[in-house]
Amino acid sequence: MTPTRILVTGGAGFVGSHYARTLLGPCGPPGVAVTVLDKLTRAGNLANLDDVRHAPGFSFVRGDICDPDVVDALVAVHDQVVHFAADSPVDRSRLGSEGFIRTNVLGTQTLLDAALRHGLHTFIHISSVEVYGSIRAGSWPETDPLRPNSPYSASKAASDLLALAYHRTHGLDVRVARCSNNYGHHQFPEQVIPRIITHLLTDRPVPLHGNGLDVRDWIHIDDHVHGIELVRTGGRPGEVYNIGAGDELSQRELAGLLLQVCGADRGMIRFVEHRRSNGDRRYSVDTTKIQTELAFAPRKDLVAGLAETFDWYRTHRSWWEPLLPRACQEPNDYERLPS
Ligand code: NAD
Repeated sequence: MTPTRILVTGGAGFVGSHYARTLLGPCGPPGVAVTVLDKLTRAGNLANLDDVRHAPGFSFVRGDICDPDVVDALVAVHDQVVHFAADSPVDRSRLGSEGFIRTNVLGTQTLLDAALRHGLHTFIHISSVEVYGSIRAGSWPETDPLRPNSPYSASKAASDLLALAYHRTHGLDVRVARCSNNYGHHQFPEQVIPRIITHLLTDRPVPLHGNGLDVRDWIHIDDHVHGIELVRTGGRPGEVYNIGAGDELSQRELAGLLLQVCGADRGMIRFVEHRRSNGDRRYSVDTTKIQTELAFAPRKDLVAGLAETFDWYRTHRSWWEPLLPRACQEPNDYERLPS
């Protein structure tokens, strides 16, 4: 049987590496070959691919999705693209948006153009619920307008719409997955959950920005990856699928839960006033479509998932300790790090 050749962009990052490990792991689909294309920027980490490095059918290419030659040569020999590579996170996009526009918009366009040229079978675009903006009450269905508030989410919205436009204009089989906030092992310590955990594990108080009342909608990485696989294998061309688990928590509630799971004292978290809010008060995603059409059902309980995540960071210090200098958000973050 000829394998389905899948090009995974950004596959050395948090979500992409989880996806690559899942595809090539013991429960992955039969008959797939996976190439990871990754530039290895701040959050990209080859160690995330240790488990699959020697798997049959796996290969890694260090390269930039904005490089038309690299992209063209790779897309030409693959059947499907699952496109994770992106510049993130939101907070960094305050410092300057050029890199976000380049990678998230132009990089996506470079991939889509190559997909058209080579008659690619399927293009899965990994978007985010942040493209919707913020919602006071209720939850976003896929038909809601996109009202992104940060340069990051604006660049994600642009790439999301561009991908859908390639379907409508050129008939390319594009499917878009918009997922809520992920947590789990191998997440770069700059992100809120591993940031809290790694501060606690190194006995440092955790400064969290904002008043603690902003609500985010959490999902375990396993469930996100499961949703993407359903979209890749059973989704319809030109369709958008929201992915989420319905676990909405304010930052305060999340911090409280993590303290409980880590066995730490409440005083370890300090809320410091927002530098400037982008207005994203609440995220809430309606997942009726993927549930009814693709039988998606999140499997991971939030408290159990957080406990497992804490346990992974507790037992994998050699993975995250070398990353801390790169993960600093403020000059005095992790201030007691050895020089
Ligand atoms: P990440 O930063 O951990 O991974 C991104 C990867 O892309 C890194 O390995 C990086 O080296 C690579 N990359 C960056 N620029 C590149 C370029 N120009 N060329 C090639 N590779 C490049 O991010 P993540 O959290 O794994 O997110 C992956 C995707 O999932 C993103 O598109 C993001 O918008 C989406 N997503 C993430 C979440 C979440 O909570 N993490 C939720 C919904 C959607």
